[in-house]
Amino acid sequence: PREVRLVSRPVGWPTHADFEVVESCVPEVGDGQIRVRNTVMSVDPYMRGRMSAAKSYADPYVIGEAMTGGAVGVVEESRADGFAVGDHVLHGLGWREVAVLDAASARRVDAAAPDSAYLGVLGMTGLTAYAGLTRIAALQPGDVVFVSGAAGAVGSAVGQIAKALGASRVIGSAGSPEKVRHVVEDLGFDAAFDYKAAPVSGQLREAAPDGIDVYFDNVGGEHLEAAIGSLRLAGRIAVCGMISVYNDTEAAPGPRNLARLIQTRGCIRGFLVGDHYDLAGEYAKRAAGWLASGELQSRETFVDGIAHAVDAFLGVLRGENTGKMIVRL
Ligand code: NDP
Repeated sequence: PREVRLVSRPVGWPTHADFEVVESCVPEVGDGQIRVRNTVMSVDPYMRGRMSAAKSYADPYVIGEAMTGGAVGVVEESRADGFAVGDHVLHGLGWREVAVLDAASARRVDAAAPDSAYLGVLGMTGLTAYAGLTRIAALQPGDVVFVSGAAGAVGSAVGQIAKALGASRVIGSAGSPEKVRHVVEDLGFDAAFDYKAAPVSGQLREAAPDGIDVYFDNVGGEHLEAAIGSLRLAGRIAVCGMISVYNDTEAAPGPRNLARLIQTRGCIRGFLVGDHYDLAGEYAKRAAGWLASGELQSRETFVDGIAHAVDAFLGVLRGENTGKMIVRL
């Protein structure tokens, strides 16, 4: 089996030269451990941060070692109670075809849903949307909600969950006319615009002439400034991610209109999904209901084979995905 190692720390945009796909050496399965053949693995924007040396909430990847990340696979050998051959498990040893791990760090998942769902709408990105909306943005029925990255994994769930929770109007931004069509026609957003076509502030004012109550930020930069500009009294901004700056080598200037938060008594707050897993059970129940009713739909973009995992990761940074980007192994 193969794995993907980080061989150098990218400066600016990562390139293929920063990675290598090599044969891995699979250890013996010890007491309390399982061997898993991964069927799908996640590539996520936060992994760009882990490729840098700077210490953050997640440790940097180690040069010369396989990277890690979310994955789902099938148990091939088990020396752990409660795990049988054939079980589907979610765990943290992605970026490889076969993983040996402590069963305590794996979670069995219901094979009734496709494995990929546990990396997206029923997994980390879905919970991010739910926790950010309910806890950080304190979404209220009747709110006007704006979300960037609207055709992506988190953003597409944000818009649909906001509607399901009673938002009066949901506006999204995305990077192509096809993505804009998708979020409005397929996902039921009330309005959307292509942020590459014209400045964000003007397009947002047009889509929300009376302003917004909630901005769910996946992008940062110009989007954040525009959202502050459109914030209504007592508006809330949940800062989930700032993908527009992840490959910057120099810090981009911040929003120039932060003082507007004073006039609007606005609130801006960052969050990490890792602090909100106590909501996972509640979210899983509600998500299952919304999926069954059709209020929540999830699109996935698949890339096949570990040899193309790096392409899939670069694709997320470039916007080649609609919905969750999944590597099928
Ligand atoms: P997505 O599926 O949304 O993929 C990333 C998308 O970002 C791309 O498809 C692309 O779409 C868009 N994008 C790339 N560059 C830019 C840019 N310069 N300006 C605007 N959009 C851009 O990824 P996720 O749903 O996994 O993650 C979305 C955000 O949420 C990220 O910022 C991520 O870091 C963050 N996140 C934070 C978590 C937390 O705990 N705080 C947890 C999970 C995710 P397009 O074609 O529209 O440009």
